[in-house]
Amino acid sequence: MKQAAINLIPTPARESREQRSEIRFISSTLFALVLLASAALSAQTRATLRVGFWTLWHDKSVTLTAAGAKAQFAACEACDAESFKTPITLTADGDEVVYSAEGRPTRHTPVVEISGPVTIAAHKESETPRLPMRITAHKGVLVMAATIPVERYVERVVASESSSADTDESLKALAVVVRSFALHMRHGHAEYDLCDSTHCQLLHWHGNPSRAAAAHAAAMETAGETLWFHGAKADAYFNQNCGGRSAKPSEIWPAAVSKAYLSSHADKYCSAGGARSWAASLTKDEISAALSNAGLVAPGWRHLTVGRVGSAERGESPRVLTMRVVANNDGKEFSAEDFRLAIGRAYGWGKILSTWFEVHEENGNYHFSGRGSGHGVGLCQAGAAEMATEGLSAERILAEYFPGAEARDEESGRAWQRKQAGGLTIETLSEDDAAHVSEVKAAYGESESRAGGLLVNSDQLRITLRAYPSPTAFRDATLAPGWVAAFTEGNFIASQPLAILSARKQLRKTLRHEFLHAIVESVAARSTPLWLHEGLVELLSRDEAGADLGIAAEPTMTLDDLNLLLKTAATERESATAHREAAAYAARLIERYGRKQVESWVRNGLPESAMKEIGRR
Ligand SMILES: [Zn+2]
Ligand SMILES: [Zn+2]
Ligand SMILES: [Zn+2]
Repeated sequence: MKQAAINLIPTPARESREQRSEIRFISSTLFALVLLASAALSAQTRATLRVGFWTLWHDKSVTLTAAGAKAQFAACEACDAESFKTPITLTADGDEVVYSAEGRPTRHTPVVEISGPVTIAAHKESETPRLPMRITAHKGVLVMAATIPVERYVERVVASESSSADTDESLKALAVVVRSFALHMRHGHAEYDLCDSTHCQLLHWHGNPSRAAAAHAAAMETAGETLWFHGAKADAYFNQNCGGRSAKPSEIWPAAVSKAYLSSHADKYCSAGGARSWAASLTKDEISAALSNAGLVAPGWRHLTVGRVGSAERGESPRVLTMRVVANNDGKEFSAEDFRLAIGRAYGWGKILSTWFEVHEENGNYHFSGRGSGHGVGLCQAGAAEMATEGLSAERILAEYFPGAEARDEESGRAWQRKQAGGLTIETLSEDDAAHVSEVKAAYGESESRAGGLLVNSDQLRITLRAYPSPTAFRDATLAPGWVAAFTEGNFIASQPLAILSARKQLRKTLRHEFLHAIVESVAARSTPLWLHEGLVELLSRDEAGADLGIAAEPTMTLDDLNLLLKTAATERESATAHREAAAYAARLIERYGRKQVESWVRNGLPESAMKEIGRR
């Protein structure tokens, strides 16, 4: 299981630290300079997405406030970015943006760009997305688009779309589907790739604190993986609850092309506890207003019935295909999904939950009774959660909802290979890694033997090492800066390519360090301070570390300063300093109290008295 704690060393790309609650340990073995050379090699893989911001609000005006020194504003595409102190108001005027601020002339511009910590406020809401954003206007409405790393997008959508029934494996399956939907499909937006509403995939900009850590883990452990079918990138959808039978895309979207892996099939998992059913009543006037607002049919019709496609009222699943309104001698049909969306937009998504329903009319009222929630195509979230609860893997969940398809690496189309060595799972994409497996195992063995009394229940220890095939892949997947060789979160370790680490003679030490982090994390009390995690691991993983751990320089920072540096270090040099200082304190602690005592404190918490004593100059 992952441990919850706080982010130790944030990376510049991970600016939403307040949403995250895991420890991330970064190897002291630093790793600079390879990024530039390899960046060009994988330019075909998308590292970022443009996502529409507040797309359902149709704001005409927003206020921008700097929420930090790095907040930047550019008044046009070619304009220099500048910092700003007083709030700036943006208002849409036709297809132009008008900006005004105290001490600035009011100006019209086609586009405004912002970056850094800028708070955006409108409709009694405010967000600080900390992402580069481009703001334009279209027909008197502001159009805001944020540029977000793909993996950050995936974790935020998983946090927004998942439910409390989800566990690790169902979240991983969802992460693969969310990533595939974003990267493999077109979504019909001109100004950005995806919107932030359920039209595409729901993204809560302020995050979902209760699910952020689990969503982050699911995105991280499947980073870069998308759905593939017979060597080609596959379409992927998910829905809340298929009601016991999934839908074919053409049952929902009439123009959709059939795919073998998107079939209609019974779902024994979501219906295990009884299929989800619902009922709703709407007056004719309510329906009429919603259909008219959605541009489907003008008011004045007499009856609403289920329509036909050929001779069929229902698809295979058996969802309603079309709805028909009858006016005098005339009739008009539209898809049942359009009907569901029109009612949803007008009266909320809790009325007509799916297109799997019966309808009857009574005195100008329409009574619906149905099953499931959502369109029913692809992964059924209720079923996936049930499968995970029954102990089935993400792989198995994807195979259930996308028969014949599987998760593969988006860039190379290869599947991750897993090699088992005791409690260690080595995940690689590159065949060249086979040459380094013995050294990885040796590092694992060394970390186990060096861990001493920190290694309890070693037969239950499970560690996953995912070695990325290129520095670019590592960076895009983990959003870690280029100088990081590897890091550990809970029992998951991500590393730069084994071949590169090996060529630099850093492989053994780097992995030893990370394996020791995973071991320490598996036993450490929540209250064990970060400097002690880091310091102990640093001492134990050093090349010269033998029986004698007392070899370390005296610390030069206070413990408070060190704790702060551990949380904020953003450069290679700061990280190296933090590791060195932490090791010095850990060595001092061992010198005073003995290793056995310190190991026991790691497991049970460090007493205040020892902390005071050790912090004394
Ligand atoms: Zn470390
Ligand atoms: Zn959309
Ligand atoms: Zn289902």
